[in-house]
Amino acid sequence: MVAPSLLEKQFNLISKHAPFIVSEEAQKLHRNLFIGDLHADSTLWDRNLSNQHNFGHVDIPRLQKGNVALQMFTTVSKVPQGLNYERNETSANDRITALAVIQGWPVKTWNNLTERVIYQAKKIQRIAKKDSDNFMLVLSQSDLEKFINKRKSNPNLVGGLIGTEGSHALEGNLDNIQRLYSEGFRMMSLQHFFDNKLGGSLHGTTEQGLTKFGQEAIYEMLRLKIIIDVSHSSENVVKDVLNLTTQPLLVSHTGFNGHCPSPRNIDDSLMKEIAARGGLIGIGYWDAAVCGNTPREVASAIQFGIKLVGVEHVALGSDFDGAVLSGFDTSELIALTHELLEAGIEEPQIRLVMGENLLHFFERNLPTK
Ligand SMILES: [Zn+2]
Repeated sequence: MVAPSLLEKQFNLISKHAPFIVSEEAQKLHRNLFIGDLHADSTLWDRNLSNQHNFGHVDIPRLQKGNVALQMFTTVSKVPQGLNYERNETSANDRITALAVIQGWPVKTWNNLTERVIYQAKKIQRIAKKDSDNFMLVLSQSDLEKFINKRKSNPNLVGGLIGTEGSHALEGNLDNIQRLYSEGFRMMSLQHFFDNKLGGSLHGTTEQGLTKFGQEAIYEMLRLKIIIDVSHSSENVVKDVLNLTTQPLLVSHTGFNGHCPSPRNIDDSLMKEIAARGGLIGIGYWDAAVCGNTPREVASAIQFGIKLVGVEHVALGSDFDGAVLSGFDTSELIALTHELLEAGIEEPQIRLVMGENLLHFFERNLPTK
């Protein structure tokens, strides 16, 4: 039996690096930014996120250190053995089952994917309850307004939202969309690494579009005002969703193919279409998405995105704690501000990308109350 912390230390690594050099201009700007991130899998691991750790990428104290205001916590429910970005069989053995057992999750989570994501969501709700000076759960536009007001007198307050990674978490039952909504979920991604009942994954075997079940699921998500994330979805699924709704979409963590040709990234023309519909694209910090993991390489992907889809449609989507090798953790985010300035990106544009776009997206697209 491997101790849970040892297990996480194998997965959520940070490349060894000297302390980042940050200009005075970047320090001043970073302090005054509203920062948000669209994707972190931190609830998957056995760590109390209220405490600072010297492993993993995200916890509340490190979000505060990085001046992050809003964090989307995404819950992972099933990951295939032999995971890769090209081709994964739906029938492959699942790796999260072992993780759930080793980390001592309740027995009901061992064989039920809905229970797995609810268990992870409850961790976030618990922090919001116990540690309300530092953390607040955001469920609606009015919560967001409250959060912004509270942050004026308490600039250390971090806001959190809850999402899924892959709608196999529904266990094939549409009623579970309402159930997850009641548990605080406000964003749902459709696929993860394998084709599921809703349609094809970008890393599956069929490349199929939305199934009838997938369409019904989307209608139910739209009815509840759950935000739809098409990261990891096949290009055919993305096209079908774009045909089905005019509601703005998220790509919570990705790179751009024109910047980093990779089986992890969908075609740039689809990204442009998502943006043209008011969508928001979160740039990841790892190699398969942006062909590198240093702050400079992430800044270069952002710069490409601004040119391709327009500055209002680019945001941060770290994939922190998503079993990726990152070049930095969330407390070191100032290094990204520095590199964006170094790349010659103007201050108002940096403000938008680092978090204001994300804030405006949630202000418009969360349920009102
Ligand atoms: Zn992912």
